[in-house]
Amino acid sequence: MHLELYQFRTTSTPDLLRIVKFDECINVVKIHHIWRVGLKWKCDCPRGDFPTCRHRILRSVFEQEYMIDSGWFYNWEIAKWLPPISFITVNKGSK
Ligand SMILES: [Zn+2]
Repeated sequence: MHLELYQFRTTSTPDLLRIVKFDECINVVKIHHIWRVGLKWKCDCPRGDFPTCRHRILRSVFEQEYMIDSGWFYNWEIAKWLPPISFITVNKGSK
């Protein structure tokens, strides 16, 4: 099953956000950045010169739901949230 999962994270630079795209195994597929210029947001993706793109749409979704830096994943296709994976137990002694 093909999944496109996204996370939003703040950076040390104000108004610069990092978007991380994951596949269904939570491997990082792509990283993009968006940043605020006046009232608008710019994006470094191939559609960055267009008025908007998936990443800028996602920013409003994450902001409205207070999900930036939360660790939650957003599934773009079905518009649903997936919980963070930080609760998964890592058994370090098992190999
Ligand atoms: Zn973009």
